[in-house]
Amino acid sequence: MVQETIFSKIIRREVPSDIVYQDELVTAFRDINPQAPTHILIVPNKLIPTANDVAAEDEAALGRLFTVAAKLAAQEGIAADGFRLLVNCNRYGGQEIYHLHMHLIGGRPLGPMLLKTMDDRR
Ligand code: 5GP
Repeated sequence: MVQETIFSKIIRREVPSDIVYQDELVTAFRDINPQAPTHILIVPNKLIPTANDVAAEDEAALGRLFTVAAKLAAQEGIAADGFRLLVNCNRYGGQEIYHLHMHLIGGRPLGPMLLKTMDDRR
């Protein structure tokens, strides 16, 4: 059974968060524990638990993640220097919240990869 997470409540504005963009398909809000000067989560409004669960009918929402990421990167002033878009999947991918989301991270050089490991998170 698909279980709602805190992200559904954020999307419905039932709990406070710093929402920077919302439309009929996606919602974007600032990460509560930012790893860089810009750290925004872009989330399909529909609950898709993981990258394993995407279906053809989700393509519009998943494509929208990228167009909104580009718009927000420009707004944040990080487009030219560059940024990272990241989707974690399941335990080995370090996924914490089981509502698919794209991280938009930037505002500083990020190095070859984010060095966060499972151990750092616990
Ligand atoms: P994941 O590891 O699942 O890809 O990332 C989940 C992200 O959600 C983490 O970066 C974490 O800081 C963020 N997060 C978890 N709970 C909340 C919350 O209640 N509000 C916000 N804004 N971010 C959250």
